[in-house]
Amino acid sequence: MNIERILIADVLANVEVGAEVTIGGWTRTVRASKGGFSFISLNDGSCMDCIQIVADKALANYESEISHLTTGCSLLIDGVVVESPGKGQRVEMHAKEVRVIGLADAETYPMQAKRHTFEFLRTQAHLRTRTNTFGAVARVRSAMAGLIHDYFQSRGFLYVHTPLITASDCEGAGELFRVTTMDPDAPPRDDAGAIDYSQDFFSRPTYLTVSGQLEAETYACSLGNVYTFGPTFRAENSNTPRHLAEFWMIEPEMAFCDLQTDADLAEDFLKNIFAGILNKCPSDMEFFNKRIDKTVIDTLTHIAESPFERITYTKAIEILEKADCQWQFPPAWGIDLQTEHERYLTEETFKKPVIITDYPSSIKPFYMRLSDDGKTVAAMDVLVPKIGEIIGGAQREERLDVLTERMAAQSMDAEDYWWYTDLRKYGTVPHAGFGLGFERTIQFATGMANIRDVIPYPRTPRSADF
Ligand code: ATP
Ligand code: MN
Repeated sequence: MNIERILIADVLANVEVGAEVTIGGWTRTVRASKGGFSFISLNDGSCMDCIQIVADKALANYESEISHLTTGCSLLIDGVVVESPGKGQRVEMHAKEVRVIGLADAETYPMQAKRHTFEFLRTQAHLRTRTNTFGAVARVRSAMAGLIHDYFQSRGFLYVHTPLITASDCEGAGELFRVTTMDPDAPPRDDAGAIDYSQDFFSRPTYLTVSGQLEAETYACSLGNVYTFGPTFRAENSNTPRHLAEFWMIEPEMAFCDLQTDADLAEDFLKNIFAGILNKCPSDMEFFNKRIDKTVIDTLTHIAESPFERITYTKAIEILEKADCQWQFPPAWGIDLQTEHERYLTEETFKKPVIITDYPSSIKPFYMRLSDDGKTVAAMDVLVPKIGEIIGGAQREERLDVLTERMAAQSMDAEDYWWYTDLRKYGTVPHAGFGLGFERTIQFATGMANIRDVIPYPRTPRSADF
């Protein structure tokens, strides 16, 4: 079979009337008319829209095949592009040949052309991309990844591939997945009866990474500005619409950079990619705006155009303490901000993205730079409406003595991080960076309420299907 098809997106947008083309795709609806025609609406994933195809009963396989087509069949169609009499589309096609490649049993095919709940579609994640919503999410996700790479590549940032298997717990939160080849029923034991990790694959306990930051710092401290874009893993048992056990993170890290410049980059970067997605995926974004969240285009436009609010953690706590709210977690200086607090600040107080800086050192990891007040660190979180935290970042502790003190205070063995402390021994520089959750970015850009619906195969507590 010689398959030289062109994309339906191309036919709808560019191909001239009168041209003969081959397309391939899956039927969304098929309607036989009394006059001896079938109207096939075909989608190939290249765009939201289906193309309408008129198939005449004069076609050789009309009775035997075409008239029996149902939703979900795969077809290759040769035909002529003609002007569309209907509204909304420039062109349609008259079929010269309809090749039926694969049928889809109408009794059992799960993606019938009707509304399905997102919960149901999660059980059909291998087929859900045949729906408008999940096709659009997939296209926006791909376009967003491209925009992110473009942003950094065009500014001289080097793309670093940090390891996924690691021996260190960067966030110190203990939310690690273990990586081992030992037999769980009979792990090797030492003389004292403890599990003997020296006999494990890596001769030591290892985990899936929660962040590529520490390794990215090593590259920044010789190559200047770098970024990672890869999967990260957290065994946090939080069943929320914003947490996954496997998610993708973008982590820029910059040498000769302080918290201010780090926050400037975060703001410029978010503005750039949100403006970019409106530009790059206009019809998918219109769909989200119409069907998923009627404010999403306005919100993204507004974000791209107006400055983010910047306040300190101390100021944020003051605002929250004065707020007339029934908190699940009452705000007080020293607590970590909860989603309810984050959403109040960005949705009620400021009605735009807020960058919160200078958190208490006691609630932040060892690598964040201790400020002169001795009780806060040069940390920043970027909060956005509906999601809360989308970015977490910091200036890193570049002073060897302060860093080793903080490691000791958090009962970490500095020996284990000898390579990390080496950066502070040899040519140390102020440096800073942040982590952006890719799925939260897609959630924000599309208005999709649940993070499970913006990644192809979500991994969450008690769920790793497909
Ligand atoms: P949260 O308080 O929301 O759990 P965090 O403080 O654990 O976030 P960081 O460790 O700073 O987050 O990670 C950087 C970014 O990665 C976050 O701003 C967020 O966008 C994203 N992120 C963190 N945890 C998850 C998760 N479990 N699923 C999806 N994205 C996440
Ligand atoms: Mn977390």
